[in-house]
Amino acid sequence: MPQFFKFVITTLLWLSIAGTGKVTVAETVTREGVHLRLTSDIPDARLLDDLVSSFDAAVPQWLAFWGFPPERGSGWRIDGYLMADSDAFRRSGDLPASVPNFKNGFATPTAIWVNRQSSDYYNRHLILHEGVHALAFELFGGGGPSWYMEGTAELLATHRDRPASFYLPNSDPGEGNGAANGMLAQADTQFEINELPRSRDESSMWGRYRVIEQRRNADTLPTLASVMRLPNNLEGDVDSYTWCWAASLMFTSYPDTQDAFIAAAKNGRDQSPSFTTRFFREIGDQWPALRARWQLWIHDLEYGFDRDRYRVELSTDDPRYDDVPKILAIDSRKGWQSAGVWFPAGTIRLRPSGQCVIVAKESLGNDAGRDEEATLLQRDWVSTPAGITVHFHRGAPIGQLQVCVLPVPSADLKEVNALDIRPLDSRNATAVHSASAGVTSSAEAVHTVQIDRPSWLLFRVHDVPGDDGRYQRADNRGGYQVQVSR
Ligand SMILES: [Zn+2]
Repeated sequence: MPQFFKFVITTLLWLSIAGTGKVTVAETVTREGVHLRLTSDIPDARLLDDLVSSFDAAVPQWLAFWGFPPERGSGWRIDGYLMADSDAFRRSGDLPASVPNFKNGFATPTAIWVNRQSSDYYNRHLILHEGVHALAFELFGGGGPSWYMEGTAELLATHRDRPASFYLPNSDPGEGNGAANGMLAQADTQFEINELPRSRDESSMWGRYRVIEQRRNADTLPTLASVMRLPNNLEGDVDSYTWCWAASLMFTSYPDTQDAFIAAAKNGRDQSPSFTTRFFREIGDQWPALRARWQLWIHDLEYGFDRDRYRVELSTDDPRYDDVPKILAIDSRKGWQSAGVWFPAGTIRLRPSGQCVIVAKESLGNDAGRDEEATLLQRDWVSTPAGITVHFHRGAPIGQLQVCVLPVPSADLKEVNALDIRPLDSRNATAVHSASAGVTSSAEAVHTVQIDRPSWLLFRVHDVPGDDGRYQRADNRGGYQVQVSR
């Protein structure tokens, strides 16, 4: 009997607690910034201050991206909600019934809502992403069709994670609303958007490179045209967001498409396909080159990717190869480099030579604890076109000279083909001559490449992308030479 009573009382007590939770609203805190008034049911002052100060630091950078002076943002301020329990925000009316259900986030011209994510980075990413939508409403009346709207928001939300202390410089810990005062100016100069994460640690839960890698491995990469035709409600599909971002990143990274992409924002009110038709009219003369660039771009995107090093000079205006022998210098610090001409069908002979620094001695101390002996041997690692098999990246040794035969895309091509990449090392050379010192050298190998349809020829010194760690492209010096002839 006492047991039973105990049970009833406990149950009643539990019901009354649960019941209380249902009628009253979750306890929330609000942080006031210059451009964002953030309310949340997450009792994490550090996180909320970080989000508000990051947002305030991002606004002038967003305005600058679209060519507006910082004053254009004065007086612009929205409400934001970071929600652990979105039902409670529905009940309180902070999340009105007019806002449809959503997976990650939602924006109107005056407010943004984000469901709590499992990492600070991704919370910040989504607050910024929705903020870009809200600002696009303010400036242009909308963000355009989904590929453009989501691509721009992804682009302008991407940043690198820093130690937590970075986001909260020297504010008085006793004051809750630190974001509105002194810390803003400092954050302004330090927090950067449209910066590519260099590692998973700098972008926890972001996952865009993982999506690309999976689709690349499955050989199911989407075409640029299919991305630009994505439906208008992507319903938080990370795959689709990834492609929109990759396309926007590409368009803004090449000088001949950047202006047209940014200028298209002013048509943001138009979410119909005619928005894309208008944009296409601006860039259409380069379309075959853009499709080829896209094929390279999504093949190359991974941690360490650098838009300046991996931009490839490909143009529909490139002249045809004139059959005159030509010597190309292949820079080891860059990604794919075009011969600058297109090649009609036929046989091409390639004669590589030279050497370059593939690991600078300054980088040997990186990745502490590994390979002590090599660290002691403090000198640059020099590679020939065969590469150095001490380290492989994506299946090929660093330092390996590679050629890519990239067909000029035909209009009927419906998919993104895997790249045709061949190593220019002695294994597949047709002839090896002896070097003058009597040593057989792969540098003297002559390779023949069969081209069966109009193609570009691209070359690169293979390496791990990035600018940190022992193995990185940024520390390379010099390059190889390739003689191209019939
Ligand atoms: Zn969005």
